[in-house]
Amino acid sequence: MSTTPTMTLDEYHSALKAQGVPRDHLAMKCPICKTIQSASDLIAAGAGKNFDEVEKYLGFYCIGRFTRAGGHKKGVPPGRGCDWTLGGFLQAHELEVVTPDGVHNPRFALATPEEAQAHMNAKKGVTA
Ligand SMILES: [Zn+2]
Repeated sequence: MSTTPTMTLDEYHSALKAQGVPRDHLAMKCPICKTIQSASDLIAAGAGKNFDEVEKYLGFYCIGRFTRAGGHKKGVPPGRGCDWTLGGFLQAHELEVVTPDGVHNPRFALATPEEAQAHMNAKKGVTA
């Protein structure tokens, strides 16, 4: 039996909405390097031109895959990214989103609203 926390798709969307940030800044956390990342980061890293193009990577591929950060090294603080993807053989996801058809989709854990807002503001050069 898996002990991974699950959310329905509705719960997942509500949790994203609760972050209180625009869609491009909705934030996830890599399970390996703990780097907080959003669609805005993926776009900046060249993963796609807009939200629709990077949505498939969000919460599934670590930002480090696109910035060529390489593998995560123990002790390195979050922020750099790593080469993790949930598509790999090893499963280390922290959340499963269950779609109405009953399929469990592994996803990165979501950042808290505070983390998501701080992440967005840091990028805009805003200090809280
Ligand atoms: Zn990572």
